[in-house]
Formats: sequence, C-alpha cells, structure tokens
Amino acid sequence: MQVYDKLYIGGEWVDSSATGTIEVTSPHTEEVIGSVPDATPADMDRAVAAAREAFDHGPWPRMSPEERAAGLQRLTEQLGARAQDIADTISSENGSPAKWSLMGQVFSGVAVLGTYAGLTPTYTWADDRAGAFGAPVTVRRAPVGVVAGIIPWNVPLFISALKLGPAMAAGCPIILKPSPETPLDGYMLAEAVAAADLPPGVINVVAAGRETGDHLIRHRGIDKVSFTGSTAVGRHIGAVCGEHLKRCTLELGGKSAAIVLDDWAIDDAALGALVDSGLMNNGQVCGAQSRILVSAKRYDEVVEALAAKVGAMKVGDPLDAETDIGPLVAQRQQERVQGFLDAGKSAGARAIVGGGTPADLDRGWYVQPTVFADVTNDMKIAQEEIFGPVLSVIKYTDEAEAIAIANDSDYGLCGSVWTADADHGAEVAAQVRTGVVAINSSMILDFNAPFGGFKSSGIGRELGPEGIAPYTEYQTIIRPMA
Ligand code: NAD
Repeated sequence: MQVYDKLYIGGEWVDSSATGTIEVTSPHTEEVIGSVPDATPADMDRAVAAAREAFDHGPWPRMSPEERAAGLQRLTEQLGARAQDIADTISSENGSPAKWSLMGQVFSGVAVLGTYAGLTPTYTWADDRAGAFGAPVTVRRAPVGVVAGIIPWNVPLFISALKLGPAMAAGCPIILKPSPETPLDGYMLAEAVAAADLPPGVINVVAAGRETGDHLIRHRGIDKVSFTGSTAVGRHIGAVCGEHLKRCTLELGGKSAAIVLDDWAIDDAALGALVDSGLMNNGQVCGAQSRILVSAKRYDEVVEALAAKVGAMKVGDPLDAETDIGPLVAQRQQERVQGFLDAGKSAGARAIVGGGTPADLDRGWYVQPTVFADVTNDMKIAQEEIFGPVLSVIKYTDEAEAIAIANDSDYGLCGSVWTADADHGAEVAAQVRTGVVAINSSMILDFNAPFGGFKSSGIGRELGPEGIAPYTEYQTIIRPMA
C-alpha cells in the first residue's frame, strides 16, 4: 500500500483540509493499492497562494536562464534516480505494461525535462530591434504567470513533464493536479521535486477530483491553464478560460490514421511498429493510430498479418515483463470499450481477432486486443476515440481516397505513412491535417519539435522551443531615441 496523507505545497508537506481520501485500485487485482487525501478547494487556494508568492516575490522568475536550467537538471536527476519505482507504480495504477512503462511513462518524461534544461539557456528571452519610429525596441518573452497543469491518467509522469519543462524554463510556478486514477506517481514526482532543491512554491502537487480541479482553473490567481485530457473536458476548460481571459493550452483526444501504401514491405519489425503505433500502452494513448488504411490490392494480406501479430500478443499482469497488453484503467473503461466492440460488430465490422474480454483471466479490467476488418470510416469505431486495444482496418481504392479518409475525422492529432519511398511518404504526410505525422515509425512525437492537435485535438503546442512560447507573454519595451 502506498498511503500519503499530506499535500506538497510551497515546498513543504502540509496537512490537507480534506476529510475524504482518493483510493487507487489496481486494474489487475481490483484491490486497493494506495490512497491520498481528496484535496479540497481550500487546499487549492493554499497552493495558488504559494505559487503566487513564488511568482510575485520569489527568486525563480528572477533567476537567470542558466540558474533555472540548473534547477531543471536537478529535477531530471532526482526523477531519473526513482525511474523504476515510478514506472512500477504507474503500471500498478493504470495497467501500463512494464515492457513499455519504464521508457514510455518515465524516461520519456525525464528526457523532456532534460531537453528543456538544454533549451533554457539558449532560448531567445529578449531581442532588440529597430523600432518603426526611430527609437530602439526590446521585445521580451516575460513569464505568463502562475500555471495550473491538469494531468490525465494514461501517461501521467510524462505529461506532467510536458507542463513542468516549459513552465520552469519560462519562470512560471505551477500547480499540478494529477487525476484521481493516478495520484501515487504524482506524489513520487513531488518527492523528487522536494529533493531537487527548488525555491518554495515553484512546483506544487495537489491530486484531486474534477470539482476541485474546476475550482483551480477558475481561480483568480491562475494566469494560464495547461490541460491534457478528453476533448469533452477540454471544451469546458477552454470555455472557462475564454470567459476569464486566461491563457490556455489544450491537448485533447485523437483518432489517428496509419496510411499503408502499396509499396510497403511487411516484415516482422515493420509490422511490430505498425501494431505498436495503435496498441502502445494498451491503446490508451491520445496519438494511437487506431485506424489502419490499406488499399484493396493489399487488404487481405495486411489484415492477415495484423491478425497473426495481434493474436499472438500476451495479455495479463502489467508488471510481468512478458506482457504486451495489460488491463484498462478502470471497470468503466472496460465497459466503454466493450460497448465499442459491440457497436463495431452490429455495424458489420468483422472481429478477426479478439472482440471481447479474455476468458482465461477471472479478474482485472481486461479487453482482448482486437482487429476489426471490413470497417468503413463512417462507423462509430472509426470516428470516436475508443482508448483501448482496438484496431480498425479500412479499405481505400487510391492514395487520394486514403488521404481523404485520414482527414475525415473531427480529430487531428497524429498519423503515419508506411512506405518504401520515404520522400513520397513525406508528400503524403503533408496532406494529412494533423499535428504530427511519422513515416515508417510508431513515434507519435519528437521532443525537439512541436506536438499538438489540429481541429478537436486541441489548441496550442508542447515540446521543442515552440513549447516554451505558450508560457510567455510578449512584452515590448520602447527605449528612448539615441
Ligand atoms: P479527462 O478529461 O476525463 O480528465 C483529465 C484531467 O482533467 C483529470 O485530472 C481530471 O480530474 C481533470 N478534470 C476533469 N474535469 C475537470 C474540470 N471541470 N476542471 C478541471 N479539471 C478537470 O481525461 P482522462 O480520461 O484522464 O484522459 C484520457 C483523455 O486524455 C483521452 O481523451 C486522451 O486522448 C487524452 N489525452 C490527450 C493527450 C494529448 O496530448 N493530446 C495526451 C494524453 C491523453
């Protein structure tokens, strides 16, 4: 049992005013594995006050970029030292397979913070230019202020790093609100922060449910909200931020397409990468390539290869190093995905592997990895984000139709092209209306380049130097004429 009874606010472990707790249940054993206080709006008020103090009077925003980079580096090291423990905790909280979680959940987050430690000293924080009226002008990138970082359960440490990196780089104190499904790793992150010798109030971690989260985003002391989560909640948070004129970054859902071109050579590694792009983290990834588009010419061959690969995946205990697919995060998620499986079958899609819950597992919120053939893009399983281990294979006649199908989605987060001709793949990629497109790769992002969505997949970008800009405000200083 991992039991925490304090909150990390203002650089200290403090008592919560909560009377209730958030209990974390293992999706594998269905037993309680830990608990944390169910923080209240009054707790959030204290966290905002601590972050405001850090911003308005504290050293962090006034330090040199080199000093902030050193702070980022210390946090990187503290997290790196705890990586295996944090990965195991995340696997126990949300079912992420151990095979994936050390790299996908934790080292990726450590690497993001390291990337920002490298970017901070070289970022253009101010530039001098000739003004239009003869007076010289300095354009500063001032820190945007106090940030609320709202974190989902699927990749919690990594997504926390996506917010911490640029906020710390820009000099913005932050309050992280982990989701109620995965608060335990949030506490381990807070322990790393406590050991990283940062000024008080720069990073505060307060796990809570949606009502306390709503109190946080509306708080007058918050200047910017950085949200990652579902499109439904993102719309709400965007509306609240609009009303309050708070700055806002929204990283939301997706329904990404993998376009398989006719010249793609199927070998085991390539097939593995294609399957991984759709099923990594049990398919609980915003950029999952859950639609696989294949031409009529190669359709049967690719469907057969996918069936063999996915049918051989090992389903079970997420902490077992051999496991490919762990349980889904919660019973409601298992039921939701089962609803999609039923919807696919009744719409005429053919489950060539999977299609239900595994018969040999008598506990845990498992769903069989599933490949649906004969899917058309108007089906619910092709239009809505399933967030589970389900691939839909859709037939196209020519490349133009493949691109049109890929773009026939409310979402626009990621995508991929699979081909023997990488230059042609890049031409196809440029016609796909999504924030990231990979060629022959299951990567859904690159730490050195912007990541984010077109259309209902969000507003704004994280990662790369572009990821710092949303944590800054341009400030123009007009100097006297020489
Ligand atoms: P969710 O939207 O239900 O919750 C996300 C977070 O928002 C949680 O911490 C939750 O407590 C909080 N929240 C909910 N209502 C709130 C409110 N009114 N005010 C403040 N906070 C509130 O999402 P989830 O189920 O945790 O995560 C899965 C979703 O996240 C999927 O749709 C997935 O695609 C998306 N996601 C997107 C990205 C991306 O970068 N685009 C990355 C990972 C996950």
